Amino acid sequence: MDVYIDKPKCTGCQHCFDVCPVAVFAMKSRNVGGKVNPEANADTAPEDAKWKGVSDSSVKKKWDGVNDGHKHFENDNDGSSGGLSVALNGSACILCQACLIECEGECIHITDDTGTKYVSIYK
Ligand code: SF4
Ligand code: SF4
Repeated sequence: MDVYIDKPKCTGCQHCFDVCPVAVFAMKSRNVGGKVNPEANADTAPEDAKWKGVSDSSVKKKWDGVNDGHKHFENDNDGSSGGLSVALNGSACILCQACLIECEGECIHITDDTGTKYVSIYK
């Protein structure tokens, strides 16, 4: 299984990290020392899905002002939200699909071993 996050669309809600039973995801700071954090791009995301310091405008418009008890688009993770998600352990994915309905940014991409692709759609 291959899993990556379309980083500009990730709100940092941490829902993927919280629901995944096999610890595919890690939450990382977006930038460090004013520069893109290399760890934020440590999964298999293609070039146009890498974190380059700018969030997707349509996702930001949808979630920026939403007060649902967790951070959106914050630089750093505080243990419950913030930063962005990186699929560091995609090969462990068992395709339970729990993350696919919880992802605010609709930015989780999974390709199974037959080449079938899955993209998250928020519930
Ligand atoms: S589909 Fe894969 S990555 Fe998503 S929660 Fe399930 S095991 Fe984790
Ligand atoms: S659920 Fe989606 S938007 Fe939320 S942290 Fe994970 S990848 Fe980012």
